[in-house]
Amino acid sequence: MLTGVHFLLTYKCIFECDHCFLYSGPSAEGTFTIENVRQALRQMKNVVSINSAYFEGGEPFLYYPLLIESARLAKSMGFDVGIVSNAYWATTFEDALIWLAPLADIGVADLSISDDSFHHEGVDESPAKIALRAARKLGIPSDSICIEAPKSVDESAGLGGKMVVGGDVLFKGRAVDKLLGDLPRLKYTNFRDCPHENLKSPERVHLDPFGNIHICQGIVIGNINMIPLKEIMNGYHPEMHPIIGPLMSGGPAELARKYGFDISGGFVSHCHLCFEARRALMDEFPEYLTPKQVYGR
Ligand code: SF4
Repeated sequence: MLTGVHFLLTYKCIFECDHCFLYSGPSAEGTFTIENVRQALRQMKNVVSINSAYFEGGEPFLYYPLLIESARLAKSMGFDVGIVSNAYWATTFEDALIWLAPLADIGVADLSISDDSFHHEGVDESPAKIALRAARKLGIPSDSICIEAPKSVDESAGLGGKMVVGGDVLFKGRAVDKLLGDLPRLKYTNFRDCPHENLKSPERVHLDPFGNIHICQGIVIGNINMIPLKEIMNGYHPEMHPIIGPLMSGGPAELARKYGFDISGGFVSHCHLCFEARRALMDEFPEYLTPKQVYGR
């Protein structure tokens, strides 16, 4: 049952992190207008199971007035509000308090801060830690998201070969082009399910500035600028979807097999195979595999 919508308030970000699912960066296109946010929240009210709205990106604090007004609107309409940020704005504790005070007044229920070496390398107290201290001071429920860089090590459990550790990175988006390195590859038949998303009955979806509803980043099930969210969800038959159908029946392996994707090279993970197969299919299914920038195109 769908309970949450995560707004990709903008695809823009000040960073170009190697592990970013969305290929966000300073030149990425697409930011909500406040009218788009308002329309989306109204559509969410028509789906009775939805009780939360998250604002993330990209980096939502880049459009600070839009973020504040969006959070205020969502809260006034009865949604729990969450925000995800890299905390680039937390230059000092006092400044962080200024940025966060309006969100405390609104009653934001969750502030998630990215705090890892991808975002904040080589600083004593990272902006993320400063932001978390400020959030605590203001009484905003908060936590950090930490993603370890992946590396391969010799398998010590006697199974032979190598394994990937630090496995928080999901190999989709820019991670596929930046972080694979010499990580060990496995045969495509190892990847017969999707271990990360509830494709059959999603509890949360992402909504981007173009109106696309994503089940997983870059896999779209409809556009709320053309069909209301309620109709998209009521008409969601995942087994009929040309990408989600194969993923449900046999994972990325079945997606690759069904469409004849070249599987000779081997793959690091489920998401690696899934992302590469989808990127190869983008032109064939432009309505479902979009926007192109999420695929680094
Ligand atoms: S396997 Fe595919 S659908 Fe599942 S989380 Fe990974 S990229 Fe997304």
